Amino acid sequence: MESEEKPARQCGSCTLCCKVLGVAALDKPAGAWCRHCRPSQGCVIYDVRPQECRTFGCMWLANPSFPDELKPERSKLVFVLEAEGNRIVAYCDPGWPLAWKEAANYRMLKNMAIKSAEKGRQVIVSLREHYTAILPDRDVPLGMVKPGQRIVYREAGAGAARRLEPAVE
Ligand code: SF4
Ligand code: SF4
Repeated sequence: MESEEKPARQCGSCTLCCKVLGVAALDKPAGAWCRHCRPSQGCVIYDVRPQECRTFGCMWLANPSFPDELKPERSKLVFVLEAEGNRIVAYCDPGWPLAWKEAANYRMLKNMAIKSAEKGRQVIVSLREHYTAILPDRDVPLGMVKPGQRIVYREAGAGAARRLEPAVE
C-alpha cells in the first residue's frame, strides 16, 4: 500500500518570518526586515544565525496538511502556534495590512476560528503588534498586549446567546 504521508515542505523563496517576527538575540523588532535577510533569497548568516531562528518553523512549513494557499509569501500571513498550542497567531505583513481580510485568507481564518473554538484554542491576527481576536461570529480588536499581559477568552450568555468574550488582562 502506498504511503499517504505528504512530503515535507521547504521555505523556498519565502522569507516572510524574517520580517514579521521579532528576534530578541538581534534586537530585531517585529514587522521590519532583518538586516541579515535578502528578501526572497534567504539568510546571509545562515550558518551562524541565532538559536531562535534555527528552531523556528511556521505552521505552513511544519504541517504538510496546513492549507497550501496559506504559504506565507503568498498569503502575507505567517501562522505560528503559541501558548503551548492553545493559540494560533497569524502575523500579517505590515506591507500588506489588509491581507488578513482578503476573501480567501479571511474565509480560512474563520474556519480555523470555528474549529478552534470547539477545542478551546484561540485564533488571533497580529498586525504591527496590535491583536485582533477572530471568533466564529465576529472579530474583536484587542489592541497591544504588553509583556506580562495575556489574552483570555471567557464564555458569556447561555443557549443561542452563548458566545466567547476575549479580553487582555
Ligand atoms: S514564514 Fe514559514 S515558509 Fe516562510 S520562510 Fe519562515 S518558516 Fe519558511
Ligand atoms: S538572522 Fe537570518 S534567519 Fe534569523 S531573522 Fe535574520 S535573516 Fe532570518
